[in-house]
Amino acid sequence: MSVLVYTESENGKFKKNAFEVASYAYEVAQLLGTTVTAISFNASNNEVLGDYGVAKVLNVSNDTLKTFNAKAYAHAITEAAEKEGAKVVIVSSSTDTKYLAPIVSAKLKAGYVPNVVTAPESASPFTVKRTAFSNKGFAHTEISTDIKIVGVSNNAFGIHEHKTTAAVEAFSPTITDADFTTKSVEVDKVVGKATIADADIVVSGGRGLKGPENWGMIEELAEVLGAATACSKPVSDLGWRPHGEHVGQTGKPVASNLYIAIGISGAIQHLAGVSSSKVKVVINTDPEAPFFKAADYGIVGDAFEVVPKLIEKLKEF
Ligand code: FAD
Repeated sequence: MSVLVYTESENGKFKKNAFEVASYAYEVAQLLGTTVTAISFNASNNEVLGDYGVAKVLNVSNDTLKTFNAKAYAHAITEAAEKEGAKVVIVSSSTDTKYLAPIVSAKLKAGYVPNVVTAPESASPFTVKRTAFSNKGFAHTEISTDIKIVGVSNNAFGIHEHKTTAAVEAFSPTITDADFTTKSVEVDKVVGKATIADADIVVSGGRGLKGPENWGMIEELAEVLGAATACSKPVSDLGWRPHGEHVGQTGKPVASNLYIAIGISGAIQHLAGVSSSKVKVVINTDPEAPFFKAADYGIVGDAFEVVPKLIEKLKEF
C-alpha cells in the first residue's frame, strides 16, 4: 500500500506544483503509515522528488505521451495506482487535472475532491478542507470510498522539504490507440514567459485599458516583475487578448503570491478565480470599484499614469 502522486512536468522538467503535491502526499503518507510513490511522464530529473519525501518514482518514458492527454494519462495513473495498491491518489487542481482526475476516479471507483487546501487530520474519517461556492467559503468533505483522490489547490499547502532518496523505476503502462480519442497535433506555446499556473506574480488587465493597443505597458510591467500576463473575460471575448489569459470563474484559476489587477472592476465571477492569490493589488480610477473590497493594496488612479510610473520605479531596483 502506498500513496500515489501524479507529478506534472513540461519539456522534461517538473512544474512547481509537482513539488507541492509531493509535499502534500508525504503528509498523507505519514498519516497512513506508508510511503509515497510518484508517477511522472517523460521527466528527466526524477531524483529531485526525493527532496519532497517521494520514496519511489514510476517514470513513464513514452513519446506518445509527450503532450498531455487526459484519457491516456488517466489510464497510466490508474495502472500505477493498481500496481502500487494505492489507497490515496494525489493530483494538483490544475487545468489538466480537471479533465484527468474524473476519469481516474471513474476507473478506480474512487471519491474525488478537488481544490483541497489542507491535509486530512486523520486517516479515518478522511476529511479534507476544500474551497467552495467559488472561493467564498470552505467545505469540510469526507471521502468515504476505499480509494480516495485529492486535488490540491495550487499554492495552498506550500512546498516542504523532507529529504529522502527516490528510487526511480521505468514504468510502461499498456497504452494503445484506443486511449487517444483526441490528440494534440500541435501545441503553440509562448516561449520565455511565465505561465499563469506557475507564476509567482500575475499582472492582469481589464476593459479599463480601452483596447489591445494599450497592452504594451501590461507586458512591460510583467516583464520587469518576471510575471505572467492575464486578463478579464470581456477582454478575451473582445479578442484583445488570447483566451488562454482569461482568468476567473469560467477561466483559469490564479493562486499566485501577488496578483495585480489593472482596470478590472472586480465582478464576482472574476474574484471567484483569483481570490486564492495571497496579495492582491488593484489599480482603478473608480474608488467604488468592488475589487477594492477584496484588495490588500489599492491605488485609485488612472492606469495610464500609474503603470508607467510603477515600471519606471521598479526598473531602478
Ligand atoms: P468592466 O466591468 O467594464 O470594468 C472596467 C474597470 O476599469 C472599471 O472598474 C473602471 O472603473 C476601470 N477603469 C476604467 N478606466 C480606467 C483607467 N484609465 N485606469 C484604471 N481603471 C480604469 N469575468 C471574468 O473576468 N472572468 C470570468 O471567469 C467570468 N466569468 C463569468 C461567468 C458568467 C456566467 C458571467 C455572467 C460573467 C462572467 N464574467 C467573468 C464577467 C464579469 O461579470 C464581468 O463582466 C467582467 O469581469 C468585467 O470585466 P472588467 O472588469 O474587465 O470590465
